[in-house]
Amino acid sequence: MTRYRDLHRRSIDNPEAFWREEARRIHWHTPFGTVLDRSKPPFARWFVGGRTNLCHNAVDRHLAERAQQNALIYVSTETGIERHYTYAELHGEINRMAAVMRSLGVKRGDVVLIYLPMIPEALFAMLACARLGAIHSVVFGGFAAPNLAARIEDAKPMLIVTADAGARGGKVVDYTPLVDEALARARHKTPHVLLIDRQLAPARLNAPYLVAYEPLREQFFDVHVPCEWLESNEPSYVLYTSGTTGKPKGVQRDVGGYAVALAVSMEYIFEGKAGDTMFTASDIGWVVGHSYIVYAPLIAGLTTVMYEGTPIRPDGGIWWRLVEQHKINLMFAAPTALRVLKKQDPALMKAADLSSLRTLFLAGEPLDEPTAAWITRALNKPVIDNYWQTESGWPMLAIPRGIEALPTKLGSPGVPSVGYSLTVRNELTGEPCAVGEKGVLTLDYPLPPGCMSTVWRDDKRFVDTYWSSVPNHQVYSTFDWGVQDEDGYVTILGRTDDVINVAGHRLGTREIEEALSSHAAVAEVAVVGVTDPVKGQVAMAFVVLRGAQGEGDPSERARLAAELAMTVDRNFGSIARPARVVMVSMLPKTRSGKLLRRAIAALAEGRDPGDLPTIEDPAALQLVRDALGDGGQN
Ligand code: AMP
Repeated sequence: MTRYRDLHRRSIDNPEAFWREEARRIHWHTPFGTVLDRSKPPFARWFVGGRTNLCHNAVDRHLAERAQQNALIYVSTETGIERHYTYAELHGEINRMAAVMRSLGVKRGDVVLIYLPMIPEALFAMLACARLGAIHSVVFGGFAAPNLAARIEDAKPMLIVTADAGARGGKVVDYTPLVDEALARARHKTPHVLLIDRQLAPARLNAPYLVAYEPLREQFFDVHVPCEWLESNEPSYVLYTSGTTGKPKGVQRDVGGYAVALAVSMEYIFEGKAGDTMFTASDIGWVVGHSYIVYAPLIAGLTTVMYEGTPIRPDGGIWWRLVEQHKINLMFAAPTALRVLKKQDPALMKAADLSSLRTLFLAGEPLDEPTAAWITRALNKPVIDNYWQTESGWPMLAIPRGIEALPTKLGSPGVPSVGYSLTVRNELTGEPCAVGEKGVLTLDYPLPPGCMSTVWRDDKRFVDTYWSSVPNHQVYSTFDWGVQDEDGYVTILGRTDDVINVAGHRLGTREIEEALSSHAAVAEVAVVGVTDPVKGQVAMAFVVLRGAQGEGDPSERARLAAELAMTVDRNFGSIARPARVVMVSMLPKTRSGKLLRRAIAALAEGRDPGDLPTIEDPAALQLVRDALGDGGQN
């Protein structure tokens, strides 16, 4: 372990020297002066004074050597469309998109909200923003109108880029009515909406500010838009993520630090080389999509594969056939997808020639041992679990095979990546835990390049949320439990807060509760995450109804439960739909009125909730048990 240990130690003991060296991986239009500005902890500013541009590093820089290499391979099994773009073609499309945005008034520092399905234009739009120095805020296409409205309200975009529709599992989802509703709900008035017409659904947007993309693209076909040279610490994007409160946080990322960190990760963790092909099966609405569909593979000169569809349509062999057809070298997915694929006919995998594939990366949620063991055996290639968050932007824990091929350990995503000074701490004292002792995973100041620089327009929230929860120490909390072994390998043991993880998607239980509370029948509600064999966790809602609604009538209760589940679809998005809505007459609470969510989750999983000295009325536990057993659900 010496090479890894040496490099990691150097990155922690002397981050300035370490990152000065690593920063050479990207192009700087103007060299930086100070490597790290530590004058205002917990804020860290990397590569101060350096000027660069993410789009230049991802695209323009490669034109000299790889203009004719594919930069993007787009495959949609929803529409049957496949498109290939060389670096030169990608450059052309981004320039067109940037010119269109510029014609609508978008300039450096403006926010552009991208609400798009997995289409090439989503990647063009992100990189066009980067080119112009505009800040993109991508909102996951599966989010419903109120969720979109909350993000419009917080991000205050000057432009929204959307499409007529998305498609999933053969079902067309109209986007325009959702955008219309969100715009009506938000107080912020967005000047323009740019519509990419896929001709899947009629555009039903009443907005007078609607602009069709295609005619403008034609108009600006040959226009070249120069890259804005941004100071390294200017914002590149804002990506919202869930936490303990009902209000999502805008994770703000910088420019230079992000570019350097992604380039480092491509070599040390992903072992991706220019000319390789990488398929990251995520969505651009999530951080994995931002970093490993869009920015990192392109910065490193790879070909990125963007996929619209599910892993099992037209059949469960589709991803393996993609590997064969496009000679994919690196693949990155969430464990849920692998659990789905594990249930498919093994012949589908065997039929594909997977010889190009070097490594499979998995992240986003815990990788269970049976799935890890199965896929490692079935592929007979390294399967690398890696642990990170929207906030970090790139893996905090992994096996850094590009530094040293350390052995994997089942159940652990590996060791801290370079730059991450990670400590497991006791949640009550803040002191470091002993080897093998469970505690909260924390990071020491400074966070390495690539990590969030602050909460969008809310520095105080950044400090109060992330740097103030561990007693006696100003350290960054991941809000994950973990344990470290004698070799430094960390195992993740779930969240310390009320965040749940459904199929690799991070959801705030408070947000789902707020969605349910909007229904007139709901007096009180508690949402918890319960273990699920495929999705890792699913949401389960426990609802106290107003008055006597639904009481005693099972069919009325079932109807109401279904209606409540649909309320979550409408307010949040179907990914958050509770797997079960259970009616109860009382929820377990502390004497001070706090919901005992962990006790409820334990009951839902058939576990003993343990000692609850602060519970107000222990009878509530039995009422929950009874409700779970009596079919008062959907
Ligand atoms: P997100 O911000 O959506 O990427 O979600 C981050 C959260 O997902 C982390 O805080 C963890 O709780 C969980 N997570 C991500 N990757 C892993 C992993 N490899 N193993 C266990 N949990 C993970």
